[in-house]
Amino acid sequence: MEQKIDIKSLTLEELKKKLNTKGEKAFRAKQMYEWMHVKLAESFDDMTNLSKNFREKCRQWYSYTTLRTVRVQESAIDGTRKFLFALEDGNVVESVWMRYKHGNSVCISSQVGCRMGCSFCASTLDGLERNLTPSEMLEQIYEITRLTGERVSNVVVMGTGEPMDNYEHLLRFIKLLTDENGLHISQRNLTVSTCGIVPRMRQLAEEHLQITLALSLHATTDEKRKRLMPIANRYSIRELMEVCDYYFSQTGRRITFEYSLVGGVNDTDEDAQELAGLARPLCCHINLIPVNPIKERNYVQSDASRIKRFKNKLEKNGINVTIRREMGRDIDGACGQLRRRFVEGDPLQEEE
Ligand code: SAH
Repeated sequence: MEQKIDIKSLTLEELKKKLNTKGEKAFRAKQMYEWMHVKLAESFDDMTNLSKNFREKCRQWYSYTTLRTVRVQESAIDGTRKFLFALEDGNVVESVWMRYKHGNSVCISSQVGCRMGCSFCASTLDGLERNLTPSEMLEQIYEITRLTGERVSNVVVMGTGEPMDNYEHLLRFIKLLTDENGLHISQRNLTVSTCGIVPRMRQLAEEHLQITLALSLHATTDEKRKRLMPIANRYSIRELMEVCDYYFSQTGRRITFEYSLVGGVNDTDEDAQELAGLARPLCCHINLIPVNPIKERNYVQSDASRIKRFKNKLEKNGINVTIRREMGRDIDGACGQLRRRFVEGDPLQEEE
């Protein structure tokens, strides 16, 4: 059987063309697009201004991506909510909803699992299962909007997966999410985080988007970085700094460096000094993340005084730096922890 077209991954122009070949008028496409991406319809049947007959035809032509909410955990500390969603093929992904003063932020996954192998990260322990489609990325935001009843203003692609390893779908997702005919989230309110796949970062720079690019740096020398991140065997820190500079030159957007502080591994005064040296020539901002320990590894967080000292050292060097507030620590906050517990058959399955 021929595979149905994933309607929610089509741009408005593409949908117009597809419907045109079926003899449908352009305004139909506009109506449907609005149902999907603005009114967040959950099925073709929600689209009440389309005839029953037409809705039936749509069901035959197209697949309509939806997610099933398997689990919601809410932090008693800060109200952060973590969602576990089942995809149509039974795989599960996790997304996080955070409330900040400036609006609600959602962190989404871009893949089921991950093949990058970072040693401190729970998402990669079982490798990559598959890429998410653009509609599956969007639907994480749409479903959270339906469930919370609140508008999402910021999106970060920092959940499970390496977005640059799913580049085509990522770009399409960005196009749809920021489209003025859709949810219309500002490009400036979207951040994409990468472990540092240099050719894709270069390609992204050439798209001339206004999104924020975040680089997971985590170490200041190639040798140290290789111990934490296998991708460091492919691309050197020098190449990374060059491509970050290129991204800024092409987009005018300041780069974010993410640096997870791991006790006794990358948190010395010398590390801070080297990090300042790397950051100084670039237009960037550093986000320090106290590592979130996972049970499969022995990594520990740097203690609070060490984190403060590290931050001070950077600031004395004129670097713009923040410490990421730890949200949802009590609800498996670290990337991939909730999904992993679920897949491993932790009792949380039975609570359903
Ligand atoms: N693959 C992308 C995006 C997903 S991870 C990337 O590597 O950037 C989002 C961020 O969380 C990355 O900076 C990642 O290195 C970091 N991270 C993953 N697990 C972590 C943990 N246990 N503690 C702290 N930071 C972690």
